[in-house]
This record gives sequence, structure tokens and C-alpha cells, in this order.
Amino acid sequence: MTNRRSAPPSPSASLLAGALALASCATATTRAVEGDVAKVLVTSDQENQLGLQLKTDLETKQGVVYLSDPEVVGYVRGVADKVIQLGKRDRPDVTWQVYVIDDRKTVNAFATPGGYLYVYRGLLEMAQNEAELAGVMAHETGHVVARHAARSLVATYGLEAVVGMATGDNPGLVTQLAAGIATKGLLLAHSREDETEADEYGARYAAGAGYDPHGLVTFFQRLMQQSGDTTGVLAYLSDHPATQDRIGHVNAYIAQQGLSGGTLGDASYAHIRQRLAALPTAVAGPVPVAGAAPAASLPPAAAPPPAAPPPAAPRPSTH
Ligand code: ZN
Repeated sequence: MTNRRSAPPSPSASLLAGALALASCATATTRAVEGDVAKVLVTSDQENQLGLQLKTDLETKQGVVYLSDPEVVGYVRGVADKVIQLGKRDRPDVTWQVYVIDDRKTVNAFATPGGYLYVYRGLLEMAQNEAELAGVMAHETGHVVARHAARSLVATYGLEAVVGMATGDNPGLVTQLAAGIATKGLLLAHSREDETEADEYGARYAAGAGYDPHGLVTFFQRLMQQSGDTTGVLAYLSDHPATQDRIGHVNAYIAQQGLSGGTLGDASYAHIRQRLAALPTAVAGPVPVAGAAPAASLPPAAAPPPAAPPPAAPRPSTH
């Protein structure tokens, strides 16, 4: 919070700046105020605009390729949709979209403003049942519902920048922010407190959708066990440190809230894993050279990837 400057002289901004100044010595309170500021100043339209811009950047600058197998993508969207239904009650203004990134070496998932949820093929191949996938997607849904990205925006760029965006004084700002976010991953790096909050959403939504809410826990435990063997796991762990503390908190939260839900979905998930194992491996790592078609070249599930993305952009590793 050291680089936060005073707000421009608009009434709402002054009030908010005052609130932030008051809260500046209490981290938890500051976060709460940042959340409130984000709700007031970052509109759903702006979140959508940011999410769309980030998606375009992922596709054109980072060379993300989506898995297009209709069965797997349909399955993932079906599971995600069950937890998203609960998210919609809390944020009816969001239009949700789910994408599977065809990269089996990366075990990760992330959400961007505007309700865009992304999950990597590597994560799908590591999860062992549907409840684990539901827990991960519910966690990401929680980040969107709680507007964690907008809160990070205020925390990272300062009130002035966000006010400029809100008042339209700086119409190019959303594009600038999106570019900065896509290259540095700033917005996608959530605070530990936001991760804890998203875990609670994850357990709650998963249980509400009928899944065993411990899916998130068993997934974290597997990540911890395998973190020494699989470099792809590190991407998720760097964003979601799966410590015993974190696992303990999720377990305690489930008990405290009396969350239950019996579905593990072992059989359906085993089928999807088999299907995934049989699918060709997309070209991973640096963006493929134009002309070297990715192995999975079916039509994409949503927006088409660019025909010839620029080379050598790093793939996203933040969440
Ligand atoms: Zn998270």
C-alpha cells in the first residue's frame, strides 16, 4: 500500500480515499474497503471488458490453444455449470464461460473478471474424481463472485487509476490494465486471504451442487504428494500453496458449516480420464511455428484461436 496516492477531487473518490486512509493501518480492514471500492467503481461491464481483453491476449500473445474434444469439454462445462448455478445466485450479473486449455504439462486453473473460468488439461488429468474438479471450479467461481480481481486491481494500481476507469476519464485504461495483467500476471495473483475465501466458496458451492466438499482437500493432498515428481504441479502450487494449514482450514470450514454432499463421481471421471489419455497431445511450450498444426485441430469450443500467434510468449502460470 506504499504507492497509493491521493484520489482526484471527485466527491465519491474523496470519500473512498478517506476510507482507505483510515483503514491503512489495518490489513484486513483495508482489504474489506478495497472490496467495497471495487464493487462501487468497477462495474460489471468493465469486468466483462477486462475479461474479454485478457482472453484475447491469452489467445494471441500467449498462444493458448483450447481443447476441442466435445465430450471432454462438454463434461467439464457440465460439472462447472452445477457450481456456477450457485455462483449466479450471488452474482446474477455475470455471464459465465468455461474453457479447457490444451496443455497437459500445466496443472492449474484460473479465473478472470467477467466470469471466465479456465482449466488446464494437466489439472483434469491429475484429478481423480468429479468432486475434485467441482471443488476446483467452485474455488475459481468464488474468485469471480467475490470480485477478487477487482479488489486486486484497486490494491495493485491504486484508487486513482480505478477511479479514472470508473469515471471514463481514462477510456484506454482497461486495455492498458489488461495488457499489464496479461504480461505480468499481476491481477491473477491473489492474496492468501482471497485464496482462503475462495476455498470457502469452493467447499460451499461444491456441496451445494451435491458433491463431496472434501474434493478440494483430496486434490490439494494429491498435489502435495506429487509436487516432487511433476513440474507441472508447481504452477498450481505457486498460486495455491497447498499447505497443511490450508487443508486444515477447509476441513474445519466444512465441519463448522455442516457441509455435506455425497457425490464423488468416480466412474464418470474415470471415463473422462480414459478419453483424455486417448486424445492427441497438443504442442506444448512455446507457441507452435505457423504451419505445424497442433495435434488437436478440431474446431474450438468457443472463439477460434489465432491462425498464426506470435512466437515465444510465456504461457500463463499464475492463477
Ligand atoms: Zn485461487
